[in-house]
Amino acid sequence: MTKINDSYLKLPGSYLFSAIGKKVRAFEAAHPETKVIRLGIGDVTRPLTKTVIDALHSAVEEMGQEETFRGYAPDLGYEFLREAIAGADYQERGCAIAPDEIFVSDGAKCDCGNIQEIFSLKNKVAVCDPVYPVYVDSNVMAGRAGEYDEERGCFTGIIYMPCLEENGFLPMLPEETPDLIYLCFPNNPTGSVITRPELQKWVDYANEKGSVILYDAAYEAYIRTEGIPHSIYECDGADTCAIEFHSFSKNAGFTGLRLGYTVVPKKLVRDGTPLNALWARRHGTKYNGAPYIVQRAGEAVYSKEGRKEVKGLVDDYMENASLILKGLKEAGFTASGGVDAPYIWLKVPEGMTSWEFFDALLERAGVVGTPGSGFGPCGEGYFRLTAFGSRENTEEALERIRTNFGG
Ligand SMILES: *Cc1c(COP(=O)(O)O)cnc(C)c1O
Repeated sequence: MTKINDSYLKLPGSYLFSAIGKKVRAFEAAHPETKVIRLGIGDVTRPLTKTVIDALHSAVEEMGQEETFRGYAPDLGYEFLREAIAGADYQERGCAIAPDEIFVSDGAKCDCGNIQEIFSLKNKVAVCDPVYPVYVDSNVMAGRAGEYDEERGCFTGIIYMPCLEENGFLPMLPEETPDLIYLCFPNNPTGSVITRPELQKWVDYANEKGSVILYDAAYEAYIRTEGIPHSIYECDGADTCAIEFHSFSKNAGFTGLRLGYTVVPKKLVRDGTPLNALWARRHGTKYNGAPYIVQRAGEAVYSKEGRKEVKGLVDDYMENASLILKGLKEAGFTASGGVDAPYIWLKVPEGMTSWEFFDALLERAGVVGTPGSGFGPCGEGYFRLTAFGSRENTEEALERIRTNFGG
């Protein structure tokens, strides 16, 4: 008899976004005259840029010619892309990361989930609370968590590090020592960022304890404040304790095209084993590589024109973020984030739960967001809005919020 991996059964049945979808469909059926505006989406909406499209076209042409056709991609990814990444994302920022420490993949989400496979199930995992659900769910599926505690809204066997308003939504060093620490800055869902001295504390802690930090830099391109680190390798000693994830999704709009990369420094050693070699082993065996065509598109993102276009996309989303912050303030709300991240973390009115606020916002303004409690117990009392909508929809949503909630 075949047995299933019953760790999958531990995951709570109702996924956050399907619960939201159900409520929105019910509202739309009851109010066909109202145009519902979605400010809850965590996906980009602007199309791919010209430079990227041109690179895709010419790579497609190459694949159709005998002389330029490419078969399986190299395990770590094409050198042209890894060299572009090492130069622009690291060496230009003073980080000594080499192309053979970079592993090209089909996205950061996949890597954040897959990386745990090179670590023993005995490792204790720490996550921020609230948190991007992928880190917890992939570790639960692997069998690294206890049971789901319905009442508290979290798993036993996982260390949750509260990120509260009084700490600028930064996690506190946990009492129990974790082996694997997931950090994500700029943060999804809170939109918070971490300064270099604060991040250095985590690097020092991990080096002292022998833990590994899994650093998700998916929103690095949204950082505008001078001095905020774009990479954990801007901290001293991070190359002996940190793995970093990057994505082409939120900067260049590759959510549907799929491309990301993971950095595993050669100096990062645990149990006497270089993790770079372990991840290379897994990569070579279990991974087919991002397509040549897509890797050429990724290379184009680093061209002079490509970089300009990405800046244009990010600036455009961030203009929405500024409008949302301003509109919420005018309506009397307290909100944070939205300065170095496309996420705005709104404090729900006193006495309301985040799901009650979800219902109120939908009923009174026809606007959809994401209840903070869906990201962990400390997300209760908060609400996530995103800057990925169209300008027109964002402006209209804010107008409705001002009218129906303000004064
Ligand atoms: C969107 C997002 C990613 C990107 O994942 P891809 O698989 O590259 O699309 C990674 N981490 C976080 C926190 C995200 O929100």
